[in-house]
Amino acid sequence: MKKNNINYFKKNYLNFLNCKINYKVKKIRCEICGSSKNHKIIDYISWGAKRYGYMPIVSCDICGFVFQNFRFSKHFYENFYSKYYREKIFKNLSPSKNFLSDQKERGLKLFKFLKKENFIKKKGKMLDVGCSTGLFLKPFLNQGWECFGNDPDKNYIEYGIKKYNLPIKFEQAENMSLKKKSLDLIIIMGSLEHCFNPNIVMKKCSQAAKVGGLLVLEARGNPQSKSKNYFNHNHHRYFSENSQELMMIKHGFIPLLTTSYPITGPTRKGGIYTIGIKKNKKINLKKIINSGKKESLGTVIYKYKYFDKIYKDNS
Ligand SMILES: [Zn+2]
Repeated sequence: MKKNNINYFKKNYLNFLNCKINYKVKKIRCEICGSSKNHKIIDYISWGAKRYGYMPIVSCDICGFVFQNFRFSKHFYENFYSKYYREKIFKNLSPSKNFLSDQKERGLKLFKFLKKENFIKKKGKMLDVGCSTGLFLKPFLNQGWECFGNDPDKNYIEYGIKKYNLPIKFEQAENMSLKKKSLDLIIIMGSLEHCFNPNIVMKKCSQAAKVGGLLVLEARGNPQSKSKNYFNHNHHRYFSENSQELMMIKHGFIPLLTTSYPITGPTRKGGIYTIGIKKNKKINLKKIINSGKKESLGTVIYKYKYFDKIYKDNS
């Protein structure tokens, strides 16, 4: 088998996951602008602790979005997150104390920030997409908000229901069924990087948001390590401030604030947040990108070169 092609990737990666099913893999187009033109920025990335494998990451020639170029079918990711993700990657089937207190604390910090900055003025209805154990919802519930959440990680959802009686359910975000124009607030804290199809998820969120409703996106943002460790198999895409805003704009939200200020506290170093508001008008994304809201290949390459230079080899 030829080294460094799509079949080479598939064989090695399914082997690594100990997966016997022969899932289909294909090259995908840019998930923001739809272009098939891109350049590879790295090909051997982290598959777990000190293990690296062939999985090319590309930058879109048109808008600069950074993503994994090879993608399996939807069914693969359903299995990946309900089975392999915990077993293979974390080896822990229930959440640790630290994880739980971190989620609680982050939820509270987000609530306080939105309140303090007047993004939310009165209670309403909210959704947490990719909610994990659902503890982000707790401070909102305590203040009388009507909340619900979903996650494809079955163990964590069951934990949140059993232990905290939270209004969450085991579900892939792509399969959500939401009432149109019903939500005042939607939060997607780092989950858009993991889901199978962010456009289906964002479209559903956009339709479910009230005009004037808020969307909060969080992404990993700037690397805290060398790029071969930053890029890893379970993050299917890598948002920058610009591409996170583009994803929002594409789906009808106008960004109000994008920042790496630690809105949810100090435990997510490098993270970037965008808070946007749902508008009721058609947007011409291509025009916006062409007018300059994009990152060139050089900009993307030198971003990661910079972090490779400042971080030590073992980081
Ligand atoms: Zn693009």
